[in-house]
Amino acid sequence: MKVNARKSLESLNSKADWTGIRFVEEDSRTLFVRDERLEPSHQEINSGAMVEVLVDGQFSYAATPDTSELGLKRAYQKAMGLAEIAKSWKLTNFTEEQRPKATGSYSTPKANDLDTAGIEQLVQNLVDATKAMKTSDEVMSRHAYIMHSQTKMRYVSSSGSDFEQNFTQNLSNLSVTAQRGGDVQTRSNGMDVGQAGAEFFNREKLLKQGTQIGEQVLELLSAENCPSETMDVILAPSQLYLQIHESIGHPLEIDRILGDERNYAGWSFVNLEDFGKLQYGSSLLNVTFDPTLPFEMASYMYDDTGARADKQYIIKDGQLLRGLGSLESQSRAKIDGVACARATSWNRPPLDRMANLNIEPGTSSLKEMISSVERGILMDTNKSWSIDDYRNKFQFGCEYAQLIENGEITKTVKNPNYRGMCTPFWNSLKGVGNNETFEVWGSYFCGKAEPNQTIRVGHATPYCLFSDVEVFGGAK
Ligand SMILES: [Zn+2]
Repeated sequence: MKVNARKSLESLNSKADWTGIRFVEEDSRTLFVRDERLEPSHQEINSGAMVEVLVDGQFSYAATPDTSELGLKRAYQKAMGLAEIAKSWKLTNFTEEQRPKATGSYSTPKANDLDTAGIEQLVQNLVDATKAMKTSDEVMSRHAYIMHSQTKMRYVSSSGSDFEQNFTQNLSNLSVTAQRGGDVQTRSNGMDVGQAGAEFFNREKLLKQGTQIGEQVLELLSAENCPSETMDVILAPSQLYLQIHESIGHPLEIDRILGDERNYAGWSFVNLEDFGKLQYGSSLLNVTFDPTLPFEMASYMYDDTGARADKQYIIKDGQLLRGLGSLESQSRAKIDGVACARATSWNRPPLDRMANLNIEPGTSSLKEMISSVERGILMDTNKSWSIDDYRNKFQFGCEYAQLIENGEITKTVKNPNYRGMCTPFWNSLKGVGNNETFEVWGSYFCGKAEPNQTIRVGHATPYCLFSDVEVFGGAK
């Protein structure tokens, strides 16, 4: 980044008890191909800085796109003015402990830059992927969409922090829609996301996914509707990642439990007293905050306050141990958290966010789990979701499912859905897939806070088996 961060900090001549500056520059690109033709695509470059001060136990901040000495000085003065006003009403007496000293650097491991790999070649790959989806005249619409963001973040503080992180994050979405009579079915690759260079958009992978969803959408047109009954359910990682996100991730965000999000996306059924006690799931459920998997979406070295990110068990053997809360939330709530204070950009403050939240692999093969089911269903790829404000009662729909009868997959069914309540559902977990079934997923679009912050998160998980789930078929 073209800033002298330490010099910028010194030139503020700050009178605060603690001062930090976070510089962020992001270059985001999208490419969109519909029915073998390139549609309007765009590139956006966005940069600026946030100046943060601590005055008499109160943090305050101001952001600016003007990173000149004068621009940063103005932001600093604004932050100081806000701190003076706010400190009389402070909720907690914060200290430098909430902004630990952090040094070093992190970069996404990558083999190739997008410009080196060639945009033309990538467009051709996307065109060919949509071509592969055209498996019949019943196919009505096809698209291939990618997002590619390069984010540079540099952070300095008066307590000696000086670190840099460079993230390259990707999304590819392939989707095909087919119609027979009044029935319309869509099959996609879900949202394929991860940290990597241009090699993420591998031609063979795109063509393979395009071919597979092109075949499966026709399979769905010929399939029976999903039955409505209580049965065993195996969830593929392409669905389970969102189940983790909505019914483990969001309810365990400590700022949400403290009430910060109450007037927006809701509260949580979890109470502060539940940590260390609540049997969140069966003894097979092990959930970690894991920022160390190299290709997962939200792997990093430090969060945006300088807290060092390490792997931690959030739920161990089914028991809830710690929350998704920053150093600030931990000091407010007096419970253990993780390094998860994250901001989406230079003009947003860090909040309690999920980062990577994973289910640890178990010991069962997928074949063993299927064999153990007398009557059940295997569901693949999220299609729809709904969960209440307390993050307790939920309903999910999937794109594709297969019926399991007497230990064998017998047929494909369409419009599959299931519903449940959070802790009874996770306590019905009776099989966790092994390493071979473990896949890395995530989301580019987790929304939270006012003003909104849409952040990228990772969820890696094996296939999992749940007993006695309420399954139902959607409308034809
Ligand atoms: Zn979310």
